[in-house]
Amino acid sequence: TSYGFTDVGQGEKQGLVDNVFHGVARRYDIMNDVMSLGMHRLWKDAMINALNPRKDSDYKTLDVAGGTGDIAFRIVEASDRLAGVTVLDINGSMLDVGRQRAEKKKLADRLEFVEANAEELPFEDKSFDAYTIAFGIRNVPRIDKALSEAHRVLRRGGRFLCLEFSDVDMPIMEKVYDAWSFNAIPQFGRAITGDSEPYRYLVESIRKFPDQRNFAAMIEAAGLSRVKWTNYTGGIAALHSGWKL
Ligand code: SAM
Repeated sequence: TSYGFTDVGQGEKQGLVDNVFHGVARRYDIMNDVMSLGMHRLWKDAMINALNPRKDSDYKTLDVAGGTGDIAFRIVEASDRLAGVTVLDINGSMLDVGRQRAEKKKLADRLEFVEANAEELPFEDKSFDAYTIAFGIRNVPRIDKALSEAHRVLRRGGRFLCLEFSDVDMPIMEKVYDAWSFNAIPQFGRAITGDSEPYRYLVESIRKFPDQRNFAAMIEAAGLSRVKWTNYTGGIAALHSGWKL
């Protein structure tokens, strides 16, 4: 398969991203563990700690680019299975895997799965207490649109949290990380899914994403307040947070 990711415009980018995730949906969870050496689990746990969801059945989170459900499951568990989460993703194959996992974990009654675009959320203004997005925003062609939609659907006092690969700020870590991501990840991708190109795209998209400071400025530009970030594992991942005041 050739995904043709080189030099694509914004309009085409979404179609290519969709092909990647349709292709990998069934093996996505295994690939996450392999590619991050299991670290994505720790970063996601830290994100849920930062969110500290209310143990309340009225507490509603929208998890955008929610894929196979990792963030949503953690939020429901952390709220003693009380809070509700809407998992939104543009990709039906990823959501199918998410639904099956939710059934197995007996969490399905607290979850809702919605196939839609982060750039145009099918919800009314001020409908959620929290908006989460993990390893999703760098795949969205128009990040500013996604951020202003996040602001729109949050209630006043609502929380915004975004976990994403970011800029590594430790020189030694950077060398190891470069070798890992440019060589090992595409090779593992080929070994497990039969194709290295989607993984080359994923690594590329991480390089192109704005660094911590610039991304924080974009979140502020969308109207969110008290924006800050925390680096994980030397900045391989970063959690940005803000409030709708
Ligand atoms: N949040 C999950 C996690 O952390 O494991 C999944 C992350 S996965 C790397 C990225 C997800 O973003 C994919 O499921 C993909 O379909 C979704 N996605 C890409 N573009 C999107 C868009 N415009 N709107 C909503 N979801 C999108």
